[in-house]
Order: sequence, then C-alpha cells, then structure tokens
Amino acid sequence: MSQELATRYPLVLVPGMLGFVRLLLYPYWYGIIPALRRGGAQVFAVQVSSLNSSEVRGEQLLARIQQILDSTGASRVNLIGHSQGALTARYAAAKRPDWVASVTSVAGPNHGSELADYLQRYSPAQSLRGRLLSALLRGIAALMSLMETGYRGPRLPVDVHASHQSLTTEGVALFNRQYPQGLPETWGGQGAPEVNGVRYYSWSGILQPGKTDRGFNLLDGSNRSCRLFARTFVREAGQCDGMVGRYSSHLGQVIGDDYPLDHFDIVNQSLGLVGKGAEPIRLFLEQARRLKAAGL
Ligand code: CA
Repeated sequence: MSQELATRYPLVLVPGMLGFVRLLLYPYWYGIIPALRRGGAQVFAVQVSSLNSSEVRGEQLLARIQQILDSTGASRVNLIGHSQGALTARYAAAKRPDWVASVTSVAGPNHGSELADYLQRYSPAQSLRGRLLSALLRGIAALMSLMETGYRGPRLPVDVHASHQSLTTEGVALFNRQYPQGLPETWGGQGAPEVNGVRYYSWSGILQPGKTDRGFNLLDGSNRSCRLFARTFVREAGQCDGMVGRYSSHLGQVIGDDYPLDHFDIVNQSLGLVGKGAEPIRLFLEQARRLKAAGL
C-alpha cells in the first residue's frame, strides 16, 4: 500500500450540523475516507451531537480525541472539520493544543452563516415558523440517530436553539472572542498559520453558475437547496457556497476559497454528485500530503 498520505498523526474528521458517520451505512465523507486510507493515512470519522452548540460538540470531540490517542498510541491528532465541525475542532484545539497538531476548516462558518442570520430574522425561535422549524429539525435529528450505523455510543444531546445560535454572525462573534486562534485580523485576510503549536488551514467553495449547477449536480437536489439558500446572503451575495460565505470561511492558511463547490459538494455529496470540473476528494488528499510534508 502507498504511504504517501501516511501523516504522522491520525486524521480525525468532524461533521457539521446534522452530521453523522454513516446513515444506514451511507457515509457522510462520501468516498473521502477510502481515498485517504489508500494513501496510507489513518482516518477516524467521529460523531458529535447533530444539533448543539460548538462548545458542547467540542467537549464531545475532546472525549473522542482522548479515546483515539489511547487506542492508537499517537500523541496528537489532525482535525478536519466540515461546516460547524470546523468550529467544533477550533474549540477542541483551543482547549487542548497539546492534543491537536492541526485544525483544517472545510467550508467552516468561522465568522458565521448569513443563512443562520436570515432564519433568525425571519423565523425567530418564538414565532410559529421558528417553532415549526425547530420541531422539524428535532424530528430529523431523532430519525438520523435511529439510522446512524457508524456510531454506537450513548445518545447525544440535542439543542436546536444552541445549534442555531452557534452559527449566526452574532453567535460566532461571541465564540471567536473566546477562541480566536487562527482567525484573520482583517476581513478576507489569512490568519496566523500556527497558534500555540497548532497549525490552522482552511478551504471553501462558492456557487459558480455554469459550473456548480452543471454536471452531476443537475441530478442533486442539495445543489438546488444551496442555490435557494444563497439568495439569503447580503454581505457575501454571489460569494457563498449556499450556507457559508467565502470570506467567512477564512481560518489560518487559506488554501483556496473559490473552488466550484457548494456546501455539500465539498464533502462529495450527495453520492459524489458534484458540478462540472469539481474534484472535492482531491482537496482532502492534497491536504493529507500537505500535513505529512509539514511533519504532522
Ligand atoms: Ca452535489
């Protein structure tokens, strides 16, 4: 087996809101884990609460990291978080920088999501629409936990309100004040590549008419959702992946922020159906190579 992606520390993949390891055997990181393993990487996909604050999810992640360190004998891990998984990883790295060699944010709302802001404005928690949305999300989370086949641990707590607050611009600003590691100092800039011995990286995509809405995405309903969600963006109108803005995603070393990938394409969803010319798996393989080259 090739060892070109055999990083020094295991890769730990952290899912976003409503994330999972496998639903009825169907993986969240579609095709990504086998591709990384073929290159010799040691990879763990972990589960944290599908709907909860980044702090609660971060504490759960710390517990998983401890188990992984114990079972592998590794001294640290490389965290790769998608969407809210990036905030979850940032929390863990801020608390235990000695356990974390690197944090990689993949389409992470590191400065909040304008979609979350829109929902807060037009479907506040106490309104009928807000209550219906909350009930719907709780139902989806409950169904997903029944269908989850990649996680066998105890039932993880769900808090829809905390989940939502953790993703708004205001909520993330509060989070950032406590956990600023790797954030850029200016809007659209890059962050410090290393803080407290932890390396920080990020990449993200944007909707690109003629690319992201072509190819196999013609068959993928999640792309249509992203195009609809993108209409709620104001500050980063025309510069978002449907759920996260281009500059909002910046953390540490920015590997790229305008790949032709919507918020789901970036983890090769759904079923590997992505837009024309998109190669989401390649970005993960390149990152493993980058981490290995950095001695991580
Ligand atoms: Ca897609």
